[in-house]
Amino acid sequence: MITDIADKVYAGQRITIEDAGCLYAHHNLAELGMLAHWARLQKYPEQVVTYNVGRNINYTNVCWVKCDFCAFYRAPGSDEGYVLPHEQIFAKIDELVAFGGDEPKSCEILMQGGLNPKLRLDYYEDLLSQIRDRFPQVQLHCLSATEIIYIAHLSKLPLDETIRRLHEAGLDSIPGAGAEILNDEVRDIIGFRKDRTEQWLEVHRVAHALGMRTTATMMYGHVETVEHRLEHFDLLRKLQDERGGFTAFITWNFQPDHTDLGADAERWHGAKATGYDHLRTVAVARLFLDNFDSFQASWVTQGPKIAQVSLRYGVNDFGSTMLEENVVSAAGTSHTTEMNLGMMERLIRDAGFDPQRRNTRYDRVATPCRIDALPKPVHS
Ligand code: SF4
Repeated sequence: MITDIADKVYAGQRITIEDAGCLYAHHNLAELGMLAHWARLQKYPEQVVTYNVGRNINYTNVCWVKCDFCAFYRAPGSDEGYVLPHEQIFAKIDELVAFGGDEPKSCEILMQGGLNPKLRLDYYEDLLSQIRDRFPQVQLHCLSATEIIYIAHLSKLPLDETIRRLHEAGLDSIPGAGAEILNDEVRDIIGFRKDRTEQWLEVHRVAHALGMRTTATMMYGHVETVEHRLEHFDLLRKLQDERGGFTAFITWNFQPDHTDLGADAERWHGAKATGYDHLRTVAVARLFLDNFDSFQASWVTQGPKIAQVSLRYGVNDFGSTMLEENVVSAAGTSHTTEMNLGMMERLIRDAGFDPQRRNTRYDRVATPCRIDALPKPVHS
């Protein structure tokens, strides 16, 4: 009964996986949303929704892993494979900083790419340190656990030494990409060459031990069951109990276009997750992940309107302005064309909150953006 679970939530007690399963099965979405919003207000009582000024940069699309859910990668040797020259990366950051201003660490670069067999640790140390030295305004929120595991493997170094060296070269924090669903049977179906559940967790565990902050993600709506999602939440909550190193949780649904998995309707659920499923998922996540402070809206995949509604389902942050996005766009979803800072602030205000700029660590940023310097959103 949702009333029994609500009593636990209001009493500040932790809910169980079984409770979370009951919440998933509760069809009155509005009731679920009210409970999740109450939990959100315990963490962030102000009527404020934050956002981050950031840009995704995909430094290479070359990847040998060939995940079946991915439309972004190009296999090694492909004519369409690329590695961005450093100068092109710097030019993209110049554009971001012109828009976001000069406050230290106030703009976020989310730099991720494929698992490119030609790029070893020295490439990353050189690139990260050059960005750090040129752009003190930028927080380097880069490299998924999957990439880091591969860099360590290629460079024949232990994981902790690899992360420590990347950190010393300028890597500030690590995004949660690559988690997908933290269950090895699911991973075997959607991307069997990818790292194992325990490896993804270990990257974040090591980073937290080094004092770095990371985010956690979940990509749902493909072959997994609700039980798999709950198992995923449980693993994240346990890891967060260890050191509290996750700053936020972000979830989005599988985008099937141009992917091998999407072309195989018998292997996956066969239809994209609905708005109802998304709101239910963020609400249950907010209630179960009681040791996470921030939950981000997923406007790139859900579109502006569901992202806006999610602000009453436990979400307290609109995510990044994302001046550039290529990965989700490659899979046929391109809400980046609909979104700009003005639109984001309007959506937040219209939902009854004040928009507030923050940095990657969720500290408030007072510097206003220079809208006149805004480059056009880029997605290919
Ligand atoms: S999801 Fe990442 S690891 Fe998998 S194929 Fe795409 S780029 Fe490679």
